Amino acid sequence: MNKRTIRDVDVSGQRALVRVDFNVPLAGGEVADDTRIRAALPTIEYLLQQGASVILMSHLGRPKGQVVPELQLDPVATRLARLLERPVQKLNDCIGPEVAEACANIQPGQVILLENTRFHREEKDNDPGFSAQLAALGDLYVNDAFGTAHRAHASTAGTAGAMRQRGGEAVAGLLLQKELEFLGRAVENPERPFVAILGGVKISDKIGVIDSLLERCDRLLIGGGMANTFFAAMGFEMGDSLVEEAAVETARDLLARGKSRLVLPVDVVIADAFDNDARTRVVAPDQIAPGWRALDVGPKTISTFESALGGARTVVWNGPLGAFEMPNFAQSTFALARVLAQSAATTIVGGGDSAAAVHQSGLADRFTHISTGGGASLEFLEGKTLPGVAALSAV
Ligand code: ADP
Ligand code: MG
Repeated sequence: MNKRTIRDVDVSGQRALVRVDFNVPLAGGEVADDTRIRAALPTIEYLLQQGASVILMSHLGRPKGQVVPELQLDPVATRLARLLERPVQKLNDCIGPEVAEACANIQPGQVILLENTRFHREEKDNDPGFSAQLAALGDLYVNDAFGTAHRAHASTAGTAGAMRQRGGEAVAGLLLQKELEFLGRAVENPERPFVAILGGVKISDKIGVIDSLLERCDRLLIGGGMANTFFAAMGFEMGDSLVEEAAVETARDLLARGKSRLVLPVDVVIADAFDNDARTRVVAPDQIAPGWRALDVGPKTISTFESALGGARTVVWNGPLGAFEMPNFAQSTFALARVLAQSAATTIVGGGDSAAAVHQSGLADRFTHISTGGGASLEFLEGKTLPGVAALSAV
């Protein structure tokens, strides 16, 4: 990784302005799932231990540039204070004279949480004046919000630049560093054999990822609804399966380019309705009768995938292998999670639904790295530069 991190700078006595991802689900005015808050703790605790003070900022939801009381960060501050076991001073805005004064007076060991940055339209506009006001609150800028690093917003890219303009450092936090290390190594220099697994529905959403992984990996396993479009390209009748007509041509091209590196399902679970309680059968992909649809890959495919994964040193997985929200079509996704949990390879999961599926499987702690950024992890795997990362100080 060619970016400086909080470990590369002396933070003692400094006011660290930290962009975190506290975009958590709320229910009844409380934090319903604090995974993202916990994920930011190592960085916050490290900074406090090193004698810094910490000023945190985040967005929450989509308030569209105005104050939305339900999207204020007070419940987050309450949960954070409990997890940190120290007070968290929650401010009612993220810029302005009162905020500037509170941040000017913060002492080492203290924690401030600014209000939702998206209450200001300038956040999404990456407004330079707004970024400069944010940057003036601290002595150094830390980005620990991987999930929004692919957005060029004020609190991600703009403030990093503004801080550097004022002569301060803009560095990666520990969570961001971990994401960049694991995803970066997989993209740039994977230990081989490198096997990629892709599922989910749309080829068109992920064409950049497919292209990029096909270039780099030794084998590419395809499952999920995405496989249907490949089968359609091979001339199979797919019944009522989800087939992306507009991407059939692309699939044909990928089949030609991928040749023996591409591994497709050898059996599928078909259903007579898009319903958990539908009647099901396991058939070969070219044996789908009219009125039926493929909603999962079958047990023979899992064996095939398991063989293809044998000896792998690096595995990247994005996209569930079936419509896993319905328990009867979640089996292959969970079976793959079990295979990977037992693998000696470095196992990396990217994508929001994929991460959710692995957490549901109960095997999350057996994976090397589960990315906290859905869209950001996909853009990274595509080989794109993330604006929030690009804006940080180089080593
Ligand atoms: P991620 O968020 O990990 O990138 P995607 O959003 O691309 O993953 O794909 C997840 C979705 O794909 C899930 O909602 C799942 O139900 C759906 N899916 C997977 N296989 C099928 C299938 N055979 N038919 C319909 N939907 C499917
Ligand atoms: Mg998704």
